[in-house]
Amino acid sequence: MTTNTAARVVVVGGGLAGLTAAAYAARAGRRVTVLEKATELGGRAATHEKKGFSLNIGPHALYRGGEAEHVLAELGVETKGGPPATSSGAYALQGGLLRALPTGPVSLLTSSLLPLVGKIEVARLLARLDSLDVASLAGTSFEAFLRAKVRTPEARDVIRALIRLSTYTPDLERLAADAALEQFKLATTRGVIYLHDGWRTLVQGLAEVARAAGAEIVASAKAVSVIREDGRVKAVRLVDGAEIPADVVILAASPSFASSLLPDVPALADWAAAAIPVTAACLDVGLSRLPQPRNTFALGIDQPLYFSVHSASARLAPEGGAVIHVARYGAPNDPRAGERELEEVLELLQPGAKHLVVERRYLPSITVAHDFPQAARGGARGRPGPLVPGAPGVFVAGDWVGPVGMLADVSLASGRAAAQAATRREANVLGQVRVKDLDARV
Ligand SMILES: Cc1cc2nc3c(=O)[nH]c(=O)nc-3n(C[C@H](O)[C@H](O)[C@H](O)COP(=O)(O)OP(=O)(O)OC[C@H]3O[C@@H](n4cnc5c(N)ncnc54)[C@H](O)[C@@H]3O)c2cc1C
Repeated sequence: MTTNTAARVVVVGGGLAGLTAAAYAARAGRRVTVLEKATELGGRAATHEKKGFSLNIGPHALYRGGEAEHVLAELGVETKGGPPATSSGAYALQGGLLRALPTGPVSLLTSSLLPLVGKIEVARLLARLDSLDVASLAGTSFEAFLRAKVRTPEARDVIRALIRLSTYTPDLERLAADAALEQFKLATTRGVIYLHDGWRTLVQGLAEVARAAGAEIVASAKAVSVIREDGRVKAVRLVDGAEIPADVVILAASPSFASSLLPDVPALADWAAAAIPVTAACLDVGLSRLPQPRNTFALGIDQPLYFSVHSASARLAPEGGAVIHVARYGAPNDPRAGERELEEVLELLQPGAKHLVVERRYLPSITVAHDFPQAARGGARGRPGPLVPGAPGVFVAGDWVGPVGMLADVSLASGRAAAQAATRREANVLGQVRVKDLDARV
């Protein structure tokens, strides 16, 4: 009989970050266990399937050429879908009215959203994006950058709307300009896709890769603490008292969750205190038919609003039906008023939609990302992890961890980085690795 003496890696959290970390650690030959507190995997990337409608948790778009796509390709997880259908029916929502949304140079020139001088300013900024020294803007807020570069109020409003769309972040006074511009460039150069059958395909794909490499994935397993002895990780304790032996632990959920599992680690408490969650209100609906098939996309200019018919680009609805996501960037103060606002946007774009609703879910305040690159913390490079100072053998992953990208790109990139750090020999033998040893890509 042979005994597997490889290090035991316990990953807490079965979302995109945790499953990515599990896949890489298992492929590196470690004994991997994923603990997920919910009955299903996926966290915020889950897709709920009802009556033939696939509803993601709010509008989800995969950034082409982003870190998530790289990691998924490296692991062999397919990403199939289509780009948003903005060519025929994309609108700007301004003052409660719909106008044509500029989606390229020609529509920018003919747009009624901006005076001529504003059009010139927007065009000039877009043309200069590639030559901008973005890295030097890590400590500058996007709003400060915008005020310095663009004078026309209408042009500023249009650019703010486009930055909200690509970053999901409404707090432009604190969002770092480097990350905002990198994300905007990513969105405008390669674009995004909506995934056929929803984001659960990513969850399933990652889970399959992890399982195929030997990882065990346990649902309904809520972790409550990490047990350490002599500064070394020994086990993860579950809410029912069970202890899962571990040499290394990867905490792949929120910063406050990580801190609650190891309350005696000051770095985790500091990170939890410094994080500013990105929130949104979402109305996710499945309709029996689409009243106005041409009205597929709208973006709020004077209000942080979003509307998109995801089923116009991806297989998400039964024959003849439609899946629409309407959202407000930033949770509203009054959830009921926020719901009415999103219902009004839906009716404006798709008159009569309220009589065609088959599936519906309103999320008044959902966490889109646990943090965003803050100018005050030096942008994305100021984000913490995956190493945890003062806690050898403990690593973090999630959309608040590490120096690259935003949103799910960060989750997957940090999942990979955490696994790479955790599977280095030093991590297992000494319980720590040096930052400079980390893969340069993450
Ligand atoms: C409305 C909305 C829209 C979005 N749109 C986009 C988009 O367009 N593009 C994009 O790239 N990203 C988007 N995102 C972000 C993306 O969904 C997230 O970044 C990503 O899914 C986060 O994955 P994660 O694994 O880091 O965290 P999570 O998905 O939160 O996973 C953490 C997991 O840990 C589990 N857990 C927590 N505590 C415990 C415990 N004590 N024990 C065991 N398990 C525990 C949770 O149940 C959860 O499954 C969006 C998110 C939302 C909410």
